[in-house]
Amino acid sequence: MDNLILIKYGELTTKKDNRKFFIDTLEKNIRRIVNDDIRIIKDRVRMYIICDDVKSVALKLKKVFGIYSIVICHKVNNNLEDVFSKSLEIMDKNKKTFKVVTNRADKSFEIPSMEFSRKLGAMILKNSNFKVDVHNPDIILTVEIRKNGTFVYTNEIKGAGGYPVGIQGTGLLMLSGGIDSPVAGYLTLKRGVNVECLYFESPPHTSIEAKNKVLKLASILNEYSGHVKVHVVPFTEIQEEIFKKCPDNYMITIMRRMMYRIGEKYAEKIGAKIMVNGESIGQVASQTLSSMSCINNVTNMPVIRPVACLDKLEIINIAERIGTYETSILPFEDCCTIFVPKHPVINPKLNKCIEYEKELEVDRLINKCIDNIEVVSNFKADNFDDLL
Ligand code: ATP
Ligand code: MG
Repeated sequence: MDNLILIKYGELTTKKDNRKFFIDTLEKNIRRIVNDDIRIIKDRVRMYIICDDVKSVALKLKKVFGIYSIVICHKVNNNLEDVFSKSLEIMDKNKKTFKVVTNRADKSFEIPSMEFSRKLGAMILKNSNFKVDVHNPDIILTVEIRKNGTFVYTNEIKGAGGYPVGIQGTGLLMLSGGIDSPVAGYLTLKRGVNVECLYFESPPHTSIEAKNKVLKLASILNEYSGHVKVHVVPFTEIQEEIFKKCPDNYMITIMRRMMYRIGEKYAEKIGAKIMVNGESIGQVASQTLSSMSCINNVTNMPVIRPVACLDKLEIINIAERIGTYETSILPFEDCCTIFVPKHPVINPKLNKCIEYEKELEVDRLINKCIDNIEVVSNFKADNFDDLL
């Protein structure tokens, strides 16, 4: 039986009490993300996946959080001869040196690990051109002897790490069409948080392309989750009111305070425990420490800013790796970019925000937005390709 993938769990092995919940959630996530005909056998330390197309399944598994490594492995009977012939078959002939590592989980097997490695190594040396190098081998041939069979493999693919999505409950991600917020979403998913997205749009000042771009970004994030939804907030009236009634230099600060208020209220409505955004310290006027503190003042909910301390280049590197960068740099306007004042305040004062907001019917405006949120779900990444 060759169509077997072995999965080594990530950080979850340190969480003893919740282990079963972690593993069950991981299994569900694998089924949802891989979405192929697969059979899963799991125990406390490993998971085995039996499937037809191991390579394509392994590729999809690279996007599942909670997996430390993915190993395409080969199951043989518990005897030296079978292990030997399978080893020769799978060892890459372009490589020169090897080392055998044996792990005898089944202690009733008669040959101890060290001795097994020595014997197998000697047989390979005699029957091939490979040389042994115990310090820096090209191939690490791993043999795991278990009660139900022996597993042989040579390469371990690095998994996505993190925790299985969902074990930490839900967070509401403020998702714009920029580079930062999708990266913030990815990093949050990686910690096991189920992410739902909130997008503020201001038609006709923002276009349908701008919205589709955000939906496309969400669909890319969805490849790491399978549960992502986008909640679209009609934000036009609020922006126009702020534009009419508040001083220019405080427009962005007040707009973001309104976003946070809506975010908090809506998060509570959908059962999200935190808000998440792509703010990065010092990046723009609204992200100085005084701005962040003024804006954050409207909420008691934890606001997680996964990229707060990363440089733009570091954020871009992650965006490229996770596949959001190309979409993020498409040139569509965001509601933050259309009503931009010439000189946004860098050190806003809380008492001024409060004073200016007296001109706005804050509660009415917020409730109206929340009542009219449109929910978009069940999308696939390529659905948006011809819309952009
Ligand atoms: P960029 O990558 O160009 O910086 P950005 O998305 O980070 O884009 P910012 O103006 O820096 O844009 O906004 C800071 C954060 O506020 C964003 O990361 C995002 O979390 C949130 N945000 C901004 N605009 C919107 C929007 N229209 N809808 C939802 N969230 C938004
Ligand atoms: Mg930004």
